[in-house]
Amino acid sequence: IIKFKDVDKYYGDFHALHDINLEIDAGETVVLIGPSGSGKSTLLRTINGLETIQKGSLVVDGADVSSSQTNLNQLRTDVGMVFQHFNLYNNKTILENIMLAPRLVLKRKPEENEKIAQQLLKRVDLSDQAPKYPAQLSGGQQQRIAIARSLAMDPKVLLFDEPTSALDPEMVGSVLSVMRDIAKNSDMTMLVVTHEMEFAQAVADRVIFMADGRIMEDEHTDTFFAHPKSERARKFLSQVE
Ligand code: ATP
Ligand code: MG
Repeated sequence: IIKFKDVDKYYGDFHALHDINLEIDAGETVVLIGPSGSGKSTLLRTINGLETIQKGSLVVDGADVSSSQTNLNQLRTDVGMVFQHFNLYNNKTILENIMLAPRLVLKRKPEENEKIAQQLLKRVDLSDQAPKYPAQLSGGQQQRIAIARSLAMDPKVLLFDEPTSALDPEMVGSVLSVMRDIAKNSDMTMLVVTHEMEFAQAVADRVIFMADGRIMEDEHTDTFFAHPKSERARKFLSQVE
């Protein structure tokens, strides 16, 4: 459902992604790891067109992302993104946060929209928070709402960029367990940038290790953790674990 072929990305003169070749199949859960500045966020952001590529081709759900013909708004309804800092609408209630995009973009009818939103609130274990505002919730709760909001669009692909990095340690587990539930119990394709190696080992089908804008390793999860091939990956793992 995602296919990078010989992709390069520059920020001005800075070469941020080098010769990326990567295929992700529908339904896969892939974890993307690597040192700070290695290009993880950049790679993720190219997938929904938040960053442009300068060379190669990138096809997502049949659409050529770098083509001017491609409707990026349409693409972004199929490819959701969850950020480190939640990005909820602070002046809207939790329920409204979840219902907004389905109403505006999918034209979902109010009754069905609310029904789906309530189901999603239940799924992230926050049914009682519907009438509150984001500021009244903990960081972990806000992130679970952000995930519910993404799910409300019924995307095919969900991108997560360090969804637990901004959270207090005691909040991390509840967010990871929601992500694990999605990975195990839906056919969603998930690409997750994270430093949570236990989560990666338990949930990912594959691990991609990046360094200096390059994919250094792309392995089945068990293979990667048992036998990281590169010295860079071994060093990285010894530092994060
Ligand atoms: P982190 O773990 O710190 O989030 P990352 O792996 O996500 O790092 P990126 O944010 O993708 O790394 O950045 C990759 C490189 O591109 C870095 O050297 C960064 O400084 C550079 N970069 C990122 N965004 C821009 C930008 N908008 N303009 C110029 N350079 C950028
Ligand atoms: Mg990043």
